[in-house]
Parts: sequence; C-alpha cells; structure tokens
Amino acid sequence: MGHNLGTARHSFGAATSAVDDLLGMMQDFYRRNAWMADGLCAQTDPELFFPESGQGTKAAEKICARCPVQAECFDFAMETGEGYGIWGGACTRTRKEILKRENAA
Ligand code: SF4
Repeated sequence: MGHNLGTARHSFGAATSAVDDLLGMMQDFYRRNAWMADGLCAQTDPELFFPESGQGTKAAEKICARCPVQAECFDFAMETGEGYGIWGGACTRTRKEILKRENAA
C-alpha cells in the first residue's frame, strides 16, 4: 500500500513537472512572439494568408505592407522555416528563394 502511494506520488510529481515544463515553454513562446498580437492579419480573414493553390497572394501582401510587425513576422518565418502561407509579406516561394540566395552567398 505504502509502495503504491509512493509510486503514485512519484508519478504525480513527474506529471506536475512535465506540466510545469510545458507551461514554461508556452510562456516563453508567447513572450518571444508577443508581436503576433499586433499583426493586422488578426483583424482580417486568416484564409487570405494561407491561400489554396492557384489563389492569389496580392491581397495578403498588401495588408502585410501596412503591418506594424512585418519585420518580426518575416524574421519568425525565416527562423522557423515556415513552409506555408504569407508571412511578413513574403509567400513561401519568395522565402525559399531568399533562403537559397543566402545559402549560396
Ligand atoms: S506581416 Fe502580414 S502575416 Fe505578418 S503579422 Fe503582419 S499582417 Fe500578419
């Protein structure tokens, strides 16, 4: 009985520690990416920024051009290797071309 209680306490402690770690990572993510709350895309149709194949990107890029956190957004996409969507005014193809040029330099 005592052993089972000890095991349960150990498991509970490990779970609590994992939850603390996860909360810490989430707090860190939100602290580092607080700029996201200021993005103009949060006030518009998010689907504009994740167009289906063949849909244009101009509408999203125009919004990005007026966005106060465009630089932060672009840097985030480049650093995390975002593979889809319009970030910082750049579509996936543009970001890949920029990366290719940077890697070649
Ligand atoms: S730059 Fe564009 S995608 Fe990035 S936060 Fe601003 S509006 Fe959204």
